[in-house]
Amino acid sequence: MPGPVPQSERVPVGVDPTRASIARVYDAFLGGKDNYEIDREVFRGVQKAAPEAQDLAVENRNFLIRSCRFLALQTDIQQFLDCGSGLPTAENIHQVVQRIKPDARVVYIDNDPVVLAHGRALLEENENTHFAAADIFQPKEILSNETVRRHIDFSEPVAFLQLGTLHHYEGPAEKPAEIMKEYIDALPSGSYVVISHFLDPEDEHSPVARKMEDVFRHSPMGSGTFRTLAEIEQLFDGLELITPGVIRCADWYPDGPRLKPLNQVQYCIAGGVGRKP
Ligand code: SAM
Repeated sequence: MPGPVPQSERVPVGVDPTRASIARVYDAFLGGKDNYEIDREVFRGVQKAAPEAQDLAVENRNFLIRSCRFLALQTDIQQFLDCGSGLPTAENIHQVVQRIKPDARVVYIDNDPVVLAHGRALLEENENTHFAAADIFQPKEILSNETVRRHIDFSEPVAFLQLGTLHHYEGPAEKPAEIMKEYIDALPSGSYVVISHFLDPEDEHSPVARKMEDVFRHSPMGSGTFRTLAEIEQLFDGLELITPGVIRCADWYPDGPRLKPLNQVQYCIAGGVGRKP
């Protein structure tokens, strides 16, 4: 079986239907229609490891919606920089935050050609919503990107979002924390950072997390690292974590009391929100 392709050797998959792409595989997990058979093959492979596999994406997306709604409601932030937007789906960040703050600016970044093709049209819905094609694992590139610079004012607090992205970095294990440090250093005081990440819960659900990791990394998509809670917390270095800290996405201010027990997959994705002091 081929091993994962290192980050340095990765090129965007393009619209090639014979190669799986992160954005299209995620769309398949969410039950969307913008995916090919090769992407659904990755989804089915992970389902073999854990039949509830779709909940990795569903819990992630629900956390994205709740955390962005929280930032729009409870902070004065007017600008959102979203790294790795993904394909347009039922509820997108600009819809969540502009419902509450119509003038909030949102800049989406992705490097997947299908996201660029579909996403531009659907995500750039109004004059406060913009899209840039760039590599989110290259902070310098993002921070100097023309569209980012034009619409995000780095002298005012920013909501900086890395949802479901850093676990797709294939390279040295310490690099995602270094990437986040570069971004966090560039943010002004009062900014907020939201991260979600595949979790190895280090309990009885750890074997299923590692099984899913093995399938993802050896699939035609080739990435998906499950980190421990302590490792994910390191991505927030220099920030004050908002209570309850980094926690399972399902347990980050759920919409109501929990009536149903969590399934094994819901234990395997975590997120948190930090504030730059
Ligand atoms: N953030 C969305 C969410 O949480 O619902 C989408 C998450 S999806 C799993 C990850 C997205 O990151 C994909 O759309 C993929 O194309 C994008 N992505 C992955 N690596 C990237 C890179 N190096 N530069 C830009 N985008 C990237």
